[in-house]
Amino acid sequence: MRCKYCNSEKVVKKGFNPNRKQRYLCKSCNRTFVENAERNYYPHNYKELAVRMFCEGMTMMAIARVLKVPYQTVRTWIRREGEKALKKI
Ligand SMILES: [Zn+2]
Repeated sequence: MRCKYCNSEKVVKKGFNPNRKQRYLCKSCNRTFVENAERNYYPHNYKELAVRMFCEGMTMMAIARVLKVPYQTVRTWIRREGEKALKKI
């Protein structure tokens, strides 16, 4: 885990934000930030893949299992990306 502001590794856990996401405190620049798992930890094409699987009739639970991504994340992707995809059609 690195600070998203100064890239320092001197980062400690600092409770949770109201959305229950892990909050971190950087001891170098003294700023707090929240980990954003869905943006940083999965390959770019996962989102597109998840939406495509969903369009092919797979359930969100199945997609989560196949991609090994938390169900919540899959749901967020499909909700966001699915809306974009529908606009293109
Ligand atoms: Zn920092």
